[in-house]
Amino acid sequence: MDFSGKVAVVTGGGNGIGRAACLGFAAHGARVLVVDRDEAAAAAVAAEIGGAALACAADVTRAADVAGYVARALDAFGRIDCFHNNAGIEGKVAPVVEYEDADFDAIMAVNVKGVFLGLKHVLPVMIRQGAGAVVNTGSTAGLVGTARMPIYVASKHAVLGLTKSVAAEVGPQGIRVNAVCPGPIDTRMIRDLARQISPNRPESVEEAYVAGIPLRRYGLAEEVANVVMFLCSGLAGNITGAQYVIDGGRTAAPAGVSQTIGR
Ligand code: NDP
Repeated sequence: MDFSGKVAVVTGGGNGIGRAACLGFAAHGARVLVVDRDEAAAAAVAAEIGGAALACAADVTRAADVAGYVARALDAFGRIDCFHNNAGIEGKVAPVVEYEDADFDAIMAVNVKGVFLGLKHVLPVMIRQGAGAVVNTGSTAGLVGTARMPIYVASKHAVLGLTKSVAAEVGPQGIRVNAVCPGPIDTRMIRDLARQISPNRPESVEEAYVAGIPLRRYGLAEEVANVVMFLCSGLAGNITGAQYVIDGGRTAAPAGVSQTIGR
């Protein structure tokens, strides 16, 4: 994969999977705009990369911020070739009847509206270019249910719906839109979920997950980033509207763990 001369924009680029994507794109020659609401984290990733990267503070739920990161990318780099539409939050672990309206709104705002706004503002740039590749971060939670995470799961199903519909829209204009569906990945998010599920013994959550994963471990952020880069590269030239599962085989061979863990 060679992204020399290409520009990548990554939301949620300050931490976890997005950070790994920023570092990966840069290692393969791209100039990178690191977008995050965590300004210090975005700046740290951009500094780690060096001259080929810039940080941009933005909240993906706000249309003005999204327009702002697109403008920043165009001002600094002149184009957007690869867009990793990645920022997301997990919300709380609780039965649906215990969700407040505000909990619902907060998760949907980042995970669905944020992805929608990213598509709405980045695609016109790619349409003008006549080329581009988008990867939305879905989840295996976009494929199957998980007890006590109903709104996160609904939000990730929505991401896959957006991916497939928009892929159909912009394919004729030379733009590909795909999704990655990570399973448990070793980032802050999975550690927070473990604390919520089992505050006294969070490590028991990893043990339970891992027992149900054929590869017997959590994935690494870099392993998701590798698939994101593949999907943005010419190697994936005939792939659009697809969803790539990166979960160590968990969804393919369910062990029932995700069903029992929530009770
Ligand atoms: P992290 O929390 O490590 O990183 C997410 C980053 O996105 C953080 O820097 C966070 O900032 C930022 N962010 C959150 N909300 C916004 C917002 N409104 N605007 C801009 N930036 C925002 O999580 P992961 O790297 O694990 O998650 C990345 C994506 O991967 C998410 O979409 C998640 O749903 C998905 N995913 C993760 C899995 C996992 O097991 N880790 C599994 C499946 C999918 P802040 O720290 O301030 O919140």
